[in-house]
Amino acid sequence: IFSSVPTAPPDAILGLTAQFRADPDPRKVNLGVGAFRTSSNKPYVLPVVRRVEQQLADDPSATHEYLPQDGLQSFCDASARLILGADSPALADGRVTTVQALSGTGALRVGFAFVANFISSSTAVYVPKQTWSNHRNVIPAAGLPRALEYRYLDPSTGAVDIAALVEDLDKAPAGSIVLLHGCAHNPTGADPTQAQWLQILDVVKRRKLVPFFDNAYQGFASGSLETDAWSVRTFVAAGLDMLVAQSYAKNMGMYGERVGALSVVASTAGAEDAVRSQLKATIRAMYSSPPKHGAMVAAAILGDEKLFAEWEGELVKMSARIMDMRVKLKAALEKNATPGNWDRITSQIGMFSYTGLTSQQVTFMREKYHVYMTANGRISMAGLTDDTVQYVADAMKDAVES
Ligand code: PMP
Repeated sequence: IFSSVPTAPPDAILGLTAQFRADPDPRKVNLGVGAFRTSSNKPYVLPVVRRVEQQLADDPSATHEYLPQDGLQSFCDASARLILGADSPALADGRVTTVQALSGTGALRVGFAFVANFISSSTAVYVPKQTWSNHRNVIPAAGLPRALEYRYLDPSTGAVDIAALVEDLDKAPAGSIVLLHGCAHNPTGADPTQAQWLQILDVVKRRKLVPFFDNAYQGFASGSLETDAWSVRTFVAAGLDMLVAQSYAKNMGMYGERVGALSVVASTAGAEDAVRSQLKATIRAMYSSPPKHGAMVAAAILGDEKLFAEWEGELVKMSARIMDMRVKLKAALEKNATPGNWDRITSQIGMFSYTGLTSQQVTFMREKYHVYMTANGRISMAGLTDDTVQYVADAMKDAVES
């Protein structure tokens, strides 16, 4: 009975990694990877994470008992404080329901399932025209219609096209969900300025839309946990109903441990017990309860002043390495007199840069230089090193001029 199963198309990003692995050329460079790499191109385990893991391993009272469906309470409370701010009025009023989730993807999946089941399965969801490709999978998989788009990027400048964005959201029906990237927009690296966020807030309020913030890069983008949470906190301060997804994949380097959280922030208190009961029921049917290890590690770091400060130091270091690569790549492109304006390489933020390279140029770089990136011209800055930045800049020049 399984012989009629059609093969699924490969995931654009994961397929690229497989292709890179199979490439025997020693010059190959992987700029498709969505994970931090050290200056010698190695995966990075944060020392503070490693130490806490060792302590947990040595703790005779630690067990492998199940967590409840909504996860580790100390982790959830600390996560809500981290993104909303310890002094958040929503926390003080008890308007926030936070559950542990399987990293950012799981938080989105549970959040959208909750919307489908308890708001309406016909709720319209708007995502930016350029967005993390998995958003488009998760939304219908959660029982909602396929995502609609709002325009996001001005391709001529590589910055946010705020007029087009506001114009599109202005046409969204009341009650629609608007997916917003809290910071470090993936794939463009282009974030709204604070003034532009206020314009977005304005249209969201006017049209009675429901923001769903996806935060995969808090602290990883600017190096400051506070700066990167500004957008979310500003929207919460406006007293809206909203959802907030968090991931610790990037900022704690816990990619494979699936550490994340979903918060439902209500404009008025009262629904928390019902909301929590339904989130738990949703999780129970999906995977019963979340994994324990990563949440224990994150909770230990978030809950201890010294460990927290050490983590903040790591965030500064990781984001600084990425910014350094931006500066070096731009300098090499300009020194090469590569046609075009490369300011966007340094004005964009986060892990990725949206180079503006066409899919033909991307193919050219892969075939001739063994430099891998997604077809939309997105490069992961963390995939560059001092040893490869000139080679990549040379390949980009050749691609642009060919
Ligand atoms: N949202 C965005 C915008 C992302 O870039 C990512 C990671 N690539 C995620 C969510 C989810 O990642 P994870 O499930 O590993 O936390």
